[in-house]
Amino acid sequence: MGLFVRAFTRQNIVAIAVGVLVAGTPLVTFNFWLGGVIERQGQQEADGSARRAIALADQRLDQVMRVLDRLAALKTDGCGSSQIAAMQQAAFVTPPIKEVAILGPAGEVLCGNRNIFAIQRRLLSSEPLTGAADYSLDVIQLADEQQMVQLRRAVGQSKNQLAALVPAALFLPQVSHQDETPGAYVQIETREGVSIGESGSRPTDHYGDMSVAAQQSGKFGFTVEVMTPRGSVIAGHSDLKWFGLFITGVIMVILAGFGMMMPQRNVDNPVAELERALAAGEFVPYYQPIVDIRSGQLRGAEVLVRWRKADGSLVLPGSFIPLAESSGLIRAMTFDLMRRVCVEAGPSIGRRPALKISFNFAGMLFADETIIRDVRNTFALSPIKLSQVVLEVTERDPIENFTLTRQVIAGLQGLGVRIAIDDGGTGHSGLSYMLKLGVDIIKIDKMFVDAIGTDRNSTTIVETLIDLAHNMRMDVVAEGVENFEQVMHLRELGIRSAQGYVFAPPLPGSAFLQLVEAMDTLGSESEDEGEDQVVLMPNDRVAAA
Ligand code: C2E
Ligand code: CA
Ligand code: CA
Repeated sequence: MGLFVRAFTRQNIVAIAVGVLVAGTPLVTFNFWLGGVIERQGQQEADGSARRAIALADQRLDQVMRVLDRLAALKTDGCGSSQIAAMQQAAFVTPPIKEVAILGPAGEVLCGNRNIFAIQRRLLSSEPLTGAADYSLDVIQLADEQQMVQLRRAVGQSKNQLAALVPAALFLPQVSHQDETPGAYVQIETREGVSIGESGSRPTDHYGDMSVAAQQSGKFGFTVEVMTPRGSVIAGHSDLKWFGLFITGVIMVILAGFGMMMPQRNVDNPVAELERALAAGEFVPYYQPIVDIRSGQLRGAEVLVRWRKADGSLVLPGSFIPLAESSGLIRAMTFDLMRRVCVEAGPSIGRRPALKISFNFAGMLFADETIIRDVRNTFALSPIKLSQVVLEVTERDPIENFTLTRQVIAGLQGLGVRIAIDDGGTGHSGLSYMLKLGVDIIKIDKMFVDAIGTDRNSTTIVETLIDLAHNMRMDVVAEGVENFEQVMHLRELGIRSAQGYVFAPPLPGSAFLQLVEAMDTLGSESEDEGEDQVVLMPNDRVAAA
């Protein structure tokens, strides 16, 4: 009997061991595979962030150098009134630049367009810039600990030099924003290893849980070091990992069961692909600044959706919005976009009540009263107030149910939301018909903006449109403004707000938020002083002056 029990037990043990081996091998393999995936993904993220950081630093430097080159071409090497004016203009049109100054032979400040240069400061490093003869790059710390990059440039044979100050923070991507990895750390250094700046907090231990990437700018010699957490939650808790694997196993069995029971899904179904992408959070907001063309200040932004695919490619809305509309997915997509904007830009926009944020709303959404409730709920907990929200309805699509649409618009306006007619002047229904909807803003289509000044008919149409808008106490925004002449014409016509490539293209969230910060008053002590306001002006203003 005792022998039997022993044999039975041994048999059992062998059976259990074989069972564990057979069942466990795929799990262990899966575990290794998962580890590899986490590691590779972390590395790819870190490499991508480093590449983006280098591109940002190169682009900032190029932008500042173009301005200094232009000033040097104008022989700006002294403190004459026209030279000061040229410096003022240069700083005015280039948001990253905080000040332009002339330095004497010993590096002393002779004059500048503001007086940041006069503030007490400490020179942390100075070195010639690779990839740009005549240039030196200094890292400077101001009395308030703020770190600045100073670019210096020789001017012809002059003993004096031109210098521009740029906050070091503008050379760094904002790692805390949604499109970067949370918990990531970025540091950028000069060629000689002096830190220009860092963002995020440097990890103190657990280096094993971090993916580390370093890249160097081929052009200017900067190096960027990026550390991103590599699935540290999973790596740090093995019990969690086993639990995760157990759940995965169960899910796989259920999925296999479903897979056998369900008919084959059509993988080529583009609507299913849109649904998948929506669930995976691949539709992200880009922001195109809307600018006050009289003062150069930011008035807000229009949110334009982008499909950021897993491979990093970016798809423009023209190729998926029509299908999203015809399939009815547009509603979920639009509200998902709004929620993303609330999370990503809510704090920044909420703090600045004068900024407005516009969303494109497909005409069909206005034919449903429940969107009034959904819009209110979406912004209920967001710092963005409903009075900052603008919904754009295009004039291109016919309005199916005019009475209902008008009611819904009135309901939205009751919440404080403002409604804009998009693509004004291009629709089939006619503008006067659209205006009967009782909207607050009209956006003049690019087609007319392009024709102003060249085509008498279009200019007359625009003038009529503006008169009409002003009589009805509506705001007017010009769209697709691409050059300085158009800005001048629009100003003459009395238009206040405009958007277009001449100011900025649609920007990813992190870049837009940087712009919002850069265009604010500088430093807390100078918050009331209008003179410290950085403004956004047409890119070719310097050339035109
Ligand atoms: P839209 O509302 O008229 O947006 C303006 C379009 O003009 C944007 O194209 C923008 O990138 C482009 N643009 C801006 N400035 C300039 C310029 O100076 N020159 C030129 N040539 N183009 C400029 P995008 O982002 O490709 O969007 C195309 C259209 O897709 C939008 O036209 C809008 O109708 C639609 N759309 C975008 N996002 C959404 C969304 O979230 N929901 C809905 N329903 N439609 C959207
Ligand atoms: Ca629009
Ligand atoms: Ca438009």
